Amino acid sequence: MKRILITGGAGFIGSHLCERLLKEGNEVICLDNFFTGRKDNIRHLFDNSNFEVIRHDIIEPILLEVDQIYNLACPASPIHYQYNPVKTVKTSVMGAINMLGLAKRIRVPILQASTSEVYGDPLVHPQKEDYWGNVNCLGLRSCYDEGKRVAESLFFNYHRQNKVKIKVVRIFNTFGPRMLENDGRVVSNFIVQALRGKDITVYGDGSQTRSFCYIDDLLEGFIRMMDTPDDVTGPINMGNPTEFTIKELAEKIIKLTGTASKIIYKPLPVDDPTRRRPDISLAKQTLGWEPKVPVEEGLKNTIEYFRSKL
Ligand code: NAD
Ligand code: UDP
Repeated sequence: MKRILITGGAGFIGSHLCERLLKEGNEVICLDNFFTGRKDNIRHLFDNSNFEVIRHDIIEPILLEVDQIYNLACPASPIHYQYNPVKTVKTSVMGAINMLGLAKRIRVPILQASTSEVYGDPLVHPQKEDYWGNVNCLGLRSCYDEGKRVAESLFFNYHRQNKVKIKVVRIFNTFGPRMLENDGRVVSNFIVQALRGKDITVYGDGSQTRSFCYIDDLLEGFIRMMDTPDDVTGPINMGNPTEFTIKELAEKIIKLTGTASKIIYKPLPVDDPTRRRPDISLAKQTLGWEPKVPVEEGLKNTIEYFRSKL
């Protein structure tokens, strides 16, 4: 049994991770400031004596005794991370410094939830870990992209300078139950619109692509990564290489929900990446990991979740 700290543990990915690590017999400390996280995501865990929740903002230091740290705290959807962009940078940068400081002091491994956004609007396709990216450092997405890039830099500098055991994972678009219905991400938006019989809002002409990974697959990758020897630092891509245009995704969700909703077209947000697909050879080779849940099956589970919520 390990004692594991999960920052951002009340959010979409974090709450599933809390659940999975508890199921495996660990003690879990969920730390969250509840900006985009919800008690409802973790309420079913409150009766478990191995589960603790701390309301805390990672831009402030904290001292805890744990065996592993997963650093997930950071709003992930554009409307949330752009709501208070200065705070988003602080969460990524000061949060990373505080959590790395903790990992250094108590000498435990720390996994960073980095993102495919570090590749920006990629000029290389699919994206491999050695690609340096194409990011607009001034744009509206930069609070998130550049914040996460500085966080990666901090992870590698703490590793080189202080021998901190780091595990940097670059997550590509992940979806599943417990996404917020109003957080503006494409999968939740389309499903909620379809279930309410509203128009499906495709931004731009819908030819931009994304690759969608189901939550259970991502968690398996996280845990395998955390269990690697100390010299395995990443960065490592985690995502499902099956690539869709956003229009194809809309059509798929229309079919799966059986809705009468129609697609409408809205302006494309500034700096919206035109394509994104992970090259996961490194994860396959290092972790023996690849996604197992077909996108359609993951979408069905997510549709069921939203059907029960709405
Ligand atoms: P989410 O918004 O559901 O969860 C983020 C959690 O962090 C929330 O519970 C929020 O309240 C908490 N949080 C935010 N700022 C905090 C702060 N300053 N102090 C303490 N807690 C704070 O998002 P998610 O989809 O679960 O993403 C989790 C992590 O994975 C994020 O770091 C995100 O950047 C990364 N990621 C997610 C995706 C994805 O597709 N979901 C893709 C790439 C990277
Ligand atoms: N998108 C869309 N309609 C929506 C929400 C998003 O067409 O209602 C598009 C968005 O412009 C982007 C893609 O879907 O091209 C993925 O958006 P999301 O915010 O989910 O993730 P990210 O852009 O961060 O990869």
